[in-house]
Amino acid sequence: MSGWRIPLSDLDYGEAETEAALRVLASKWLSSGPEVEAFEREFAEMLDVPHAIACSSATAGLHLALLVAAVGPDDEVIQPALNFVAAANMTIASGARPVFGDIVAPTEPTLDPDQIERLIGPKTKAVVVMHYGGNLCRMAEIARLCGRRGITLIEDACHAVGARYEDGTGRLPDGAMAGAIGNLGVFSFFSNKNLATGEGGMVVARRAELAERLRLLRSHGMTSVSWDRHRGHASSYGVPVQGYNYRLDELHAALGRAQLAKLARNNARRRALLNLYRTRIAAADGWSMPFEDRGEHGAGHLMVALAPDEAERDRAVQRLREAQIQSSLHYPCIADFECFGAWRHASLPITRDFVARTITLPLYPAMSPDHVDLVCDVLLAC
Ligand SMILES: *Cc1c(COP(=O)(O)O)cnc(C)c1O
Repeated sequence: MSGWRIPLSDLDYGEAETEAALRVLASKWLSSGPEVEAFEREFAEMLDVPHAIACSSATAGLHLALLVAAVGPDDEVIQPALNFVAAANMTIASGARPVFGDIVAPTEPTLDPDQIERLIGPKTKAVVVMHYGGNLCRMAEIARLCGRRGITLIEDACHAVGARYEDGTGRLPDGAMAGAIGNLGVFSFFSNKNLATGEGGMVVARRAELAERLRLLRSHGMTSVSWDRHRGHASSYGVPVQGYNYRLDELHAALGRAQLAKLARNNARRRALLNLYRTRIAAADGWSMPFEDRGEHGAGHLMVALAPDEAERDRAVQRLREAQIQSSLHYPCIADFECFGAWRHASLPITRDFVARTITLPLYPAMSPDHVDLVCDVLLAC
């Protein structure tokens, strides 16, 4: 589909997805119904959480998560400035103020628990962390900090579907799944994610009250959905709270189930490719990769390299473009976006250093080892 010789990402779509889409068309039920229910059940099983609520996007899911955390006007939400802009936008949409904390280090570009501790104040209502590239944040420390003060911990787990926690300290069980550690976890099924449906998202929760409220707010605040009425389970409905239409539909849910069945295998392929990249980059002068190799635990969402300096990064971007190899930047610092002008002077030295030197390279399950070599040859000007 793309004009690139090697694209940044590529879907793993085939017969299973075609069959799933045709099954929905044949059923003649398109809006939220049995496929959505099955997708939610299977996703919850994979994460070992009691509740998974499918929604139209992760952005919608983040909005819902902030709302059920009772985040509103005059509240503050601590979060990294190194993230996709959705969490910050939804913080503002809920009436609250984002407070940006710095990352641990360029080698560990996730929100620093010490920053959270420093930034927590009487107005702090929630903390949103983001598991960069599918590598988990320091969740034991962060969960303890939030738990002690009754602050809701939301995981933006969009990079981390299928990733596990592991820090060797034993404070959280090894194997706790990304998204299932905090109070609420949010996932995206946008086209370039590890589990892709085009658009779509999921919010997971352990507490039944949170899940019930998420379901209400997802569908206009209504006590029943049209699938219930179709099945004769309900003939009318109440509207106890104002809500939204953030539902997922049957086609996307069916695609999601087909993709979920491939997730473990595809994440393993991504990790194997990351290891090939790691070997090449470790041998190059001045270049590095963030995060230690986390073995089986990462989701392998992004292949990110760190250049020795900004000028060399910019030259590498240019070399890759000339070789028709797509690269990207995850992410610009949110405080530098025009509409976040009020945060321009936030002190984020490590984030800004990381953003100046980082480059995202092609990574997708069907990528060949030869392509990894080719990308590295061009990146490192070998
Ligand atoms: C993709 C992404 C989002 C937004 O997801 P949508 O489903 O497109 O709304 C939010 N946060 C992160 C970290 C993402 O990668």
